[in-house]
Amino acid sequence: MKMAKINPFEDTMDRLRSLTAHCGKEGVEFRPSDLEILSKPRRVLEVNFPVKFRDGTVRLINGYRVQYNDARGPTKGGLRFHPHVDLDEVKALALWMTLKTAVVDIPYGGAKGGVTINPKEMCAEDIEKVSREFIRQIHHFIGPQKDIPAPDVYTTAQVMAWMLDEYEKIIGAKAPAMITGKPIELGGSLGRDVATSLGGAHVMREVADEYDLGVSPMVAIQGFGNAGMNFAKIVSKWGYKIVAVSDSKGGVHDPDGLDVDSLIAVKKETGSVANSKAGRAVTNSELLLLDVDILVPAALENQITADNAAQVKAKVVLELANGPVTHEADGILHKNDVVVVPDILSNAGGVTVSYFEWVQNLKGEKWTEEEVFAKLKPKMVNAFREIHALVKALDVDHRTAAYILAINRIIEAEKKQGNINLKE
Ligand code: NAD
Repeated sequence: MKMAKINPFEDTMDRLRSLTAHCGKEGVEFRPSDLEILSKPRRVLEVNFPVKFRDGTVRLINGYRVQYNDARGPTKGGLRFHPHVDLDEVKALALWMTLKTAVVDIPYGGAKGGVTINPKEMCAEDIEKVSREFIRQIHHFIGPQKDIPAPDVYTTAQVMAWMLDEYEKIIGAKAPAMITGKPIELGGSLGRDVATSLGGAHVMREVADEYDLGVSPMVAIQGFGNAGMNFAKIVSKWGYKIVAVSDSKGGVHDPDGLDVDSLIAVKKETGSVANSKAGRAVTNSELLLLDVDILVPAALENQITADNAAQVKAKVVLELANGPVTHEADGILHKNDVVVVPDILSNAGGVTVSYFEWVQNLKGEKWTEEEVFAKLKPKMVNAFREIHALVKALDVDHRTAAYILAINRIIEAEKKQGNINLKE
């Protein structure tokens, strides 16, 4: 299969440009010229800092923090540690965070950061050194009312704890609201670990009702990590039939349904669901094309592209991963009546509970898991209903509607601050 390298930032810019076709319609409250303010990030910080590793070598480490837009509040977004981190990827992720916080209407802008390292090849001591030094490099740039980081790919609650500790040493005061996704003992929120999947499941239930998928729709899930595994656990309890799952080593398929608890046990014991004997083996690319009701990409970016979109048989694609469907693929899926529930809605449960964590820290409160879940559900359901109303009113796909809803809110805030040229 031809796999052209897709620049996620340019792909998102194409999406923004395509929105101008809807300007002037009822429900679209921005003009083409208003989009200029979203064409570039507000602030970009690149740092290059030496770290002495345990083996005595000194390495120059490269990292970024991008604050894309802060019109609606302090910027918010994860920090990833990955060997392929680059500025275009971080910029795209920061823009998606800006749209995501606006879709679920929490008082934040959007940011993202990354450090170009491979933590899989590093010991905990060296990861700690890089985490602390990165915070020393960016501490002027972040803070509870400025920019609030969180975990992302290959960063954990422990990494957040080291970063918080370093930040508090620098400022000489406690400041738990400067970072989310912390251990519970340091002010983390109950429910954060399953928030992304539970939020996605609430949206899925609305979609299943709207499109009459029945009480036991068939689901295929690509990726069996935090997002994919917890989603499988939640919706299987609701009666959904999980017929295929995969991870980086491959997957299994049984049209009669797989037992999720057994899959979790196999993953824990052997490291991969591909070792399950419960169904026939499938590759990751085969899984995307199975005859199912719901396909859930929960692993990587750029999985459904112009090359394979026409063969997708699912009725609904729920994007738990960030950016699994490209702009070109969106058009093909829409033409084939496949409903794509966009990442900026489907996986927004994670940042929503991060926001709840920040509120608890600022107010000095601790909420029960029940309280957190009770606050999460209406946020997700309301966002879906607002987006779906725009889908019907404008006759557009759900991503276009989600982008329009988010940009309406961002541009309105920019206007109130006097940042938009009104005389045109
Ligand atoms: P994770 O590291 O816990 O799990 C990732 C899973 O993807 C693993 O099972 C891994 O084996 C699998 N995988 C890796 N390469 C693969 C490949 N080539 N084919 C198929 N599977 C592959 O990560 P996660 O937290 O579950 O995140 C998954 C996606 O969801 C990412 O795009 C992430 O940005 C997005 N997301 C996660 C959260 C969250 O709160 N966890 C929030 C928002 C978005």
